[in-house]
Amino acid sequence: MRIDLPTLYAVAAFATAVSGLMLLASWLQNRNATTLAWWGGGTLVQVTGGVLIALHGSVPDTAAIVGGNALWLAALGMMWCGARAFEGRRPRLGAALLGAIVWVALCQSEAFYGTPVLRIRVFATIGLVYALLIPWEYWRGRPPRPVSRWAVIALMLVQALLYLLRLPLAERLVYPVVSEDAGVLISLGVGALLLHGVCMAFLVITMVKERLELQLRHDALVDPLTGIANRRAFVEHGERLLTRAAGEGCSTALLMIDLDLFKRINDTLGHDAGDAVLRFFCTTTDGLLRPTDLFARTGGEEFACLLPGASILEAVQVADRIRVRFAAQSRRHGFKDGLTVSIGAATTLTSGRRLTALMGNADRALYAAKANGRNRVEWSPDEESALVALRRRSRIAAGPGDTADDRPDGATAHRTPAQAAERRTRGSAAPAS
Ligand code: GH3
Ligand code: MG
Ligand code: MG
Repeated sequence: MRIDLPTLYAVAAFATAVSGLMLLASWLQNRNATTLAWWGGGTLVQVTGGVLIALHGSVPDTAAIVGGNALWLAALGMMWCGARAFEGRRPRLGAALLGAIVWVALCQSEAFYGTPVLRIRVFATIGLVYALLIPWEYWRGRPPRPVSRWAVIALMLVQALLYLLRLPLAERLVYPVVSEDAGVLISLGVGALLLHGVCMAFLVITMVKERLELQLRHDALVDPLTGIANRRAFVEHGERLLTRAAGEGCSTALLMIDLDLFKRINDTLGHDAGDAVLRFFCTTTDGLLRPTDLFARTGGEEFACLLPGASILEAVQVADRIRVRFAAQSRRHGFKDGLTVSIGAATTLTSGRRLTALMGNADRALYAAKANGRNRVEWSPDEESALVALRRRSRIAAGPGDTADDRPDGATAHRTPAQAAERRTRGSAAPAS
């Protein structure tokens, strides 16, 4: 089969130029996505370079060899800047143009300019460096990471491979092409570049769109101040966790937490100090939870922890740890008397499977904690009787009282609420943890 190289070059140039324009058009619609401008501009510069290289023989040699190849390498640098911009890194124009500058400088040497094989190898080496830098930027990218970036990484590695192949094949690629198989090689190369340019444009646009969607979803579900789930995420994910736990026959516990007298912090130390307290409360609490627990900011200084698989006893134990650890942390942050929280606990054992009912019960317990003097954990007496009944039924309970292992802090398991409250009041200064 005869391969008509000029036609192939023309088709490749046209398709790639259209891809470049498409990228620039997308950038005009979303000016914040500068990666589109870098890739669009880079693609157009690459087409110009490619056309000059293809016109070798019809245009002055300096334009084809020096100019065409320099533009091609500069384009690769621009695309590398595009990858950096996408990943939130500063584009480095100097380093992007370095390959082209080195190329032009080397071409000033007669020895280099007069040795086509050497020229091909140096060009391929510089191209290879950029073709590896681009996927590397995407690989070490920042979150949220679009899945489509894997396709870009794969495509760029294919391009890197094409540069690599030129090193051993350099002698057969010297212009003018003499052998039939070298013509086939060049045609394959041009065809690959054509495909590459068009696919790359689509993928770069897809990546930008995918990241935008991920960002919007993240913003809709994450509290910007503390970085934890917001109320919407809590309800969405919480319902799912409850259903899953119910399917596995486990109870799930909920803690509703409210920082005590928080308004005073704002009033005396300012809103920024209040914000800092909210943040370190979250860090402290997060460190006490399992990865499977769901922790969310449900209101101003109100938080919720959903603990799948936890009984009321375990939930109270976790709650007390949060209370104690937060007070200790706040002292470290300069609050001499220690900041406190009130916590209400409830489980699906008494509330049923619905999140709203669970939240209602935990909220009532929280209200009781506030009413009983703050800095404490409260739960409904029904929780304990429901647990005891369940354990009796399933013969897990060891007689009239549970074993010591079942008790939060070894103490709160089988007391009446009044007894438990009394103990907690007495023990709150140095609670076990
Ligand atoms: P209580 O012990 O009864 O809960 O008293 P409190 O002062 O904590 O409760 P109150 O509801 O009176 O005040 C809550 C305060 O939380 C009021 C509001 O200004 C503050 N707040 C809500 N969201 C934020 C926030 O994002 N940052 C800061 N710094 N303060 C907030
Ligand atoms: Mg409060
Ligand atoms: Mg509140």
